[in-house]
Amino acid sequence: DVENPSTGQVISRVPLSTEAETNRAIESAHAAYQAWSRTPVSRRAQYLYDLLGLLKENEKQITLTLVEEMGKSIPDAYAETKRAIENLEVACGMPVLQQGEKLVGAADGIDAEVIRQPMGVFALIAPFNFPAMVPFWFFPYALATGNTYVMKPSELVPNTMRLITEYIDRTGLPAGVFNLVNGDKTVADAFMANPLVQGVSVVGSSRVCKIVASKCASEGKRFQAMGGAKNHLVVMPDANLDKAIQNMITSCYGCAGQRCMAASVIVCVGEDLYWNVCDKFIAASREVITANPLDPKVAYEPMVMGPVISAKSKQFILDMIKTGIEEGATLALDGRGLAIDGCENGYFIGPTVFTDVKPGMAIHSTEVFGPVVSIMQVDTLDEAIGVINAHQYGNGASIYTQSGHYARKFKLEANAGMIGVNVGIPAPVAYLPFGGMKASLLSDIKAQGKAVVNFFTQDKIVTERFFDE
Ligand code: NAD
Repeated sequence: DVENPSTGQVISRVPLSTEAETNRAIESAHAAYQAWSRTPVSRRAQYLYDLLGLLKENEKQITLTLVEEMGKSIPDAYAETKRAIENLEVACGMPVLQQGEKLVGAADGIDAEVIRQPMGVFALIAPFNFPAMVPFWFFPYALATGNTYVMKPSELVPNTMRLITEYIDRTGLPAGVFNLVNGDKTVADAFMANPLVQGVSVVGSSRVCKIVASKCASEGKRFQAMGGAKNHLVVMPDANLDKAIQNMITSCYGCAGQRCMAASVIVCVGEDLYWNVCDKFIAASREVITANPLDPKVAYEPMVMGPVISAKSKQFILDMIKTGIEEGATLALDGRGLAIDGCENGYFIGPTVFTDVKPGMAIHSTEVFGPVVSIMQVDTLDEAIGVINAHQYGNGASIYTQSGHYARKFKLEANAGMIGVNVGIPAPVAYLPFGGMKASLLSDIKAQGKAVVNFFTQDKIVTERFFDE
């Protein structure tokens, strides 16, 4: 059963596919590989151009499907669809991106060249929070480089990719080049077990990433494993506070705090600033509209917060709030017990703020993945960077300051893969790599852009000479 998280109603049903069904998809991708990999790259890109046209034409339908099953706001979902499209546009540039290198005269009469070749079947295990965008970090690049693909969406949100797969079909892509398999861990395990699969990308919790990474390593497969997060926002005394507060609100509560780039910890440098930020941030949090994002009264408001994804996720967040109280943080704004007319069975939690949070508390060390924000105070920028660097996760981190000196120190010293300066969600555009550090990224090649071409190709280095006739 697939639920609308705003109402708890079942909106569709999809199969939980078996290992045998997954293997059929992998075999179909394998059978398609020889012809597809020999198809000129410009012709492969042509299918992506056709898909681009179909996605642009059907942007609204994709966006509304995504909102219905995932629960993010309509403006947020449009932004997600646009980022998916942007990745497709970048992958259309594969005739340039995939080019190798040549060194004429590497030694006497010898030339050397690096050629980048596709490898075979690649697979994706996707998370629930970006049903449209995350697949596009990978599969367009995989197809454009000449590989074939099998993907598994999250079993919580399968409808968006099912719709997109219909558009993929309409491009006339040869059968077997792209395959969608619905299901859960059983399907994921079949990817790792099948020797025809050359590499797996997984985006999800660090727990699952570790499992997938170790299975891939032991099976000799390539992997990309993009894990959980706990993103910090550092506020300096010279920050433009009014602008910063609004920006932090969007970062913390957009997508109900369920973005891997959502901020959930605000670190204030200095005591006066701490009290000021607490007052202003809590006041602004009270203004956030929590509602069914498809309710026409609020549908196009810029800051609407929908539900969290499931009853299980809601219960975990409520348990974490209880833990935060028990370990001595102050619950300064309580989002529990929210009632929304017509959505009595939805999974809503209102904006929730803890103050007096200290490093080492579970509310700080754990990824809550909901609209729960921790505010803490430190005395110096060094101390703030220390808090970030001691944390297990390192996906994103931002600083609010007008000082180039503080900003430079932060970007060089903070251990997070994606850094923001007065930008609360420093999610890179599709032309640049996306990915974190530490437990947020258990592999070396990041997603999207030019970087991911290396994941989907293997280098062959040719050293050649021809003797005089
Ligand atoms: P999840 O780990 O529960 O599931 C992710 C995927 O793994 C799903 O498709 C699921 O079916 C599959 N899966 C579950 N158990 C598995 C197992 N034992 N073996 C193999 N596959 C398994 O994650 P989620 O709740 O869907 O997504 C939220 C998480 O994803 C958060 O931790 C978030 O931070 C993270 N995330 C990270 C990034 C990033 O770029 N680092 C981006 C988006 C989401």
